[in-house]
Amino acid sequence: MEADRNDECIWYDVEELRSSTSATSTERILTMSHPIATRIEKFMEAGSWIRRMFEEGATMKKEFGVDNVFDFSLGNPIGNPPNEFIKALRDVLDEDIPMKHGYMPNAGFPNLRQDLARYLSSEYGVPLQGNNLVMTVGAAGAMNVALKALVNPDETVLIFAPFFVEYRFYIDNVGARCRIVETDKTFNLDVSAIEKALDRSVKALIINTPNNPTGRVYPEETLREVSDLVAAASREYGHPIYILSDEPYKRIVYDGIVPPSLLRLSENAIICTSYSKELCIAGERLGYIAVHPSCPDVERIMGALTFCNRILGFVNAPALMQRALYHSIGTAVDITTYEKNRTLFLSALKTMGYDIVTPEGAFYLFPRTPIEDDVDFIAELKKEQILAVPGRGFGRAGYMRLAYCVATSVIERALPGFERAIQRMKA
Ligand code: PLP
Repeated sequence: MEADRNDECIWYDVEELRSSTSATSTERILTMSHPIATRIEKFMEAGSWIRRMFEEGATMKKEFGVDNVFDFSLGNPIGNPPNEFIKALRDVLDEDIPMKHGYMPNAGFPNLRQDLARYLSSEYGVPLQGNNLVMTVGAAGAMNVALKALVNPDETVLIFAPFFVEYRFYIDNVGARCRIVETDKTFNLDVSAIEKALDRSVKALIINTPNNPTGRVYPEETLREVSDLVAAASREYGHPIYILSDEPYKRIVYDGIVPPSLLRLSENAIICTSYSKELCIAGERLGYIAVHPSCPDVERIMGALTFCNRILGFVNAPALMQRALYHSIGTAVDITTYEKNRTLFLSALKTMGYDIVTPEGAFYLFPRTPIEDDVDFIAELKKEQILAVPGRGFGRAGYMRLAYCVATSVIERALPGFERAIQRMKA
């Protein structure tokens, strides 16, 4: 069995799995002794790099002490939510509201959606109404709801390598095919590769900017070209192709960059995003979907999104978080520490000889590993008590992801280890 068929990644298609596994393992699949769904077992293996690093990190921390392990493996935002948000949350707890903790319309509180739409209209440069928004359980919830509502089994979704690894699983959740398109040397979208990848089976593209793991913010010109291609392909194939824009890092950008709005560039753009990073509330699970008001069949789409927001295991975004957001729309975390970490880490690693594309946003560096085998280099870093995630975990071997959402002192103390590791490779 091949994990990837041509450039399409229907990971471990069940039929394929059945026809290609030996009788013994097929029997095993069908017996009670096999407790986990085969597909999930394979997925867990394939998507386990970050978890593996986390587990190894825990073991190392026990052995060497927490302060002596330099963990750059996790994209967990640091710091606290903005004061305005915390105050709003406290006020909401004290407020006397009937059914404060009750069910609500599946799309979210109407007053929040209305005010948020007004705010986002200026941010995205498109006149949104409350009924163009669905409040979701984080960006992950938003993406799963959008895929469920829009994509049929056996349709194709394009993703761009390197990518946020969960996309493959989200796409599989709706039985669709995932096709990986490589980005260029600077991790920018490769428009001609996208043109080649767009065929009749494609129903959606997932674009993530600012990007995890590369930190790239795609330029407006590139996004415009992609939007034009998608519009032309939609016309040619006679069905809409959607651009799902995953942008939880849009407020974490540097050097005065403003991430271009895909919503302004394409009527087929659908924002799937969250407050996990911009309000530093990843554990509280709040996000939204925003659909272009001129998207063809927008009302039917909103109906489908709202329906799907209640059938995937969650029935609405958390009530308290929505209420707190209502009173603190527009606030965002202070990114001073991220900015400082990025400057320090980037320039120190570059000076040592690491090859890195300067990230414009998010809180990740994605350097090339000094040797071809990223896993081997990660092992070298571990000798220095440094934890990083190999690029192959994001669909791009030969690189590594360093999450710099850590205290600055962690970077400072880890730098000599990075230097020793690269020197050993040079020797
Ligand atoms: N998309 C990207 C690119 C991410 O990095 C993450 C989380 O790290 C998510 C989506 C999921 O976000 P959330 O925690 O809001 O569901």
